[in-house]
Amino acid sequence: MIDTHAHLESTHYNIDREAVIKRSFDNGVEKIINIGTSLQGSYESIDLANSYKNIFASVGIFPEEQKKIDNDFKKKFEDLARMKKVVAIGECGLDYVIFKKEKTFEHQKELFRFQLEIAQKLNLPVIIHGRDSYSDIFEIVKSFTFSERSGVIHCYLENWETAQKFLDLGFNISFTGAITYKKKEEVSEVIKKMPLDRMMVETDCPYLTPQVFRGQRNEPMYVKYVIEKIAEIRNLSFEEVEKATNENAIKLFEI
Ligand SMILES: [Zn+2]
Repeated sequence: MIDTHAHLESTHYNIDREAVIKRSFDNGVEKIINIGTSLQGSYESIDLANSYKNIFASVGIFPEEQKKIDNDFKKKFEDLARMKKVVAIGECGLDYVIFKKEKTFEHQKELFRFQLEIAQKLNLPVIIHGRDSYSDIFEIVKSFTFSERSGVIHCYLENWETAQKFLDLGFNISFTGAITYKKKEEVSEVIKKMPLDRMMVETDCPYLTPQVFRGQRNEPMYVKYVIEKIAEIRNLSFEEVEKATNENAIKLFEI
């Protein structure tokens, strides 16, 4: 299994980070992509990736996590993105739910465009976060030309029409433990209809713990519950979904 989206640098793991990582690898997780959400978090992600052979880093700034988009920030970001073991840019994107009080979303858009430019320049895939913002994300993303490795729409919970638009642009779609929660008919339809060779799985840990352990902290080995749910919806075996999602992650991130 490959957890394509973890936040193990988070303070939630300060007391037992090593143990969490060890039991992930002991329980069938083969590789983990650790995701930056700020300059500091991206730096910590790279640090973690340098300590473990099968952890890789993504460098990214979450919407509104960087107030000043000046040359100093841009240089720091690009320097980080060029470091060893960095396999993607993100998570980046637009969040109109958490930041709905902001007067305008222009700042988020500028930060997002900048990260897409770096992804294009360094030929890295992008990991995109969106909430109530997919039509703007689509408009921005389609103005860029990516090579084959465009990226992934992470933690997908929207409808099939939106999914199709991003699939057409060459994006993969990734699912978290949130698909195990109740009333997820829309996303079930996406899981049923989308091509298996474009699907990935993730935990987004420490968040979005699958239903069985909901309320507790999430961790990479629980990615198996995401695979299990997809297998159930698609009427496939666990192994078939595991194999496909592994292959898709290896291909996208070149890991
Ligand atoms: Zn995340």
